[in-house]
Amino acid sequence: MRAYNFSAGPAILPEEVLKQAQAELLDYQGTGMSIMEMSHRGKDYSAVHQETKDNIAKLLNLPDNYSVLFMTGGASTQFSLIPMNLLGEGQTADYITSGAWSSKAIKTAKSIGNVNEVANTAKEIPTCMPTNESLQFTEGAAYVHICSNETIAGTQVKEFPKTDAPLIADMSSDIFSRPLDVSQFGMIYAGAQKNLGPAGVTLVIIRNDLAEKSPESLPELFQYKHFMENDSLSNTAPTFPIYLLCLVTRWLLAQGGLEGIQKKNDEKAAKLYDAIDSSDFYKGTAKKEWRSPMNVTFRLPSEELEAKFVAEASKKGMTSLKGHRSVGGIRASIYNAFPAEGVDALISFMKEFEAANS
Ligand SMILES: *Cc1c(COP(=O)(O)O)cnc(C)c1O
Repeated sequence: MRAYNFSAGPAILPEEVLKQAQAELLDYQGTGMSIMEMSHRGKDYSAVHQETKDNIAKLLNLPDNYSVLFMTGGASTQFSLIPMNLLGEGQTADYITSGAWSSKAIKTAKSIGNVNEVANTAKEIPTCMPTNESLQFTEGAAYVHICSNETIAGTQVKEFPKTDAPLIADMSSDIFSRPLDVSQFGMIYAGAQKNLGPAGVTLVIIRNDLAEKSPESLPELFQYKHFMENDSLSNTAPTFPIYLLCLVTRWLLAQGGLEGIQKKNDEKAAKLYDAIDSSDFYKGTAKKEWRSPMNVTFRLPSEELEAKFVAEASKKGMTSLKGHRSVGGIRASIYNAFPAEGVDALISFMKEFEAANS
């Protein structure tokens, strides 16, 4: 039996996708081998590579002047590659700090170049994001970095700030969860293991003129330009993770694209937040206007009760509800692939648990 897996990442994948990967594992479309056993330059893998990019372009209505790159090293490696590629000598990059992940991004960037923190709400409780009105950007900044969904705090940017400099967004935990106007961004990036597929591939969508800025002094495999010019195939691409990403993008198109998936996500999140708000026993940890539909964070009256809650839920097949070790509490990650029935099951369990323990 499949668990209701509330893990924040690596996270649940659509069952249809896993079944198809299973069916094709030993013999990919009559080739007598798995896709992971064949050349990354052969025609079968090439078709997967191309389809993944096409599906992503379709999902996002991607303008022609953007490139889809498949990189490795996770979102965390991008924390370094962004300033290495895009923050020139004598330039400043603006960073918005809104939680643990954007804190890591700015910390890494500071060790590489000149960085200005335009806001910091990382320590605020209830958790929140800075308002757009509070942001004062540096004139002529090389770029502005933002995290669209703080996975640990359970907060999400609702409207992206307007910036003169290219806006770069870490969308690791909410990419493809809602419609997106890519033209607002210079670059978006995401480690795959939350909303896209397995760990091992990092999706980067970058405006071509920005990718062109990669300094020649950087090693080639650290340059966005090099990935763009070589279609992410200058060395062996992570073929199996990209294949799974291909299946996930097909699944997303079948869900009605990003509008379709957003509707489902909003329904799941609204039910769960309603269950929290209609009780005095559970307390949401994020300010209402910033609540994430992906990572729902809440507390119980005591840490003992939280531990008991996690343990009893796990016995009922609802796993990984423990909040991040840095903040405690409960975190229910309900990404695109998380089924609505799992949310209903959690809500029933919350009611039972409250009745038995309050
Ligand atoms: C998980 C996560 C990361 C780190 O991703 P890795 O692929 O493990 O490096 C970065 N940013 C956000 C918002 C995340 O949720």
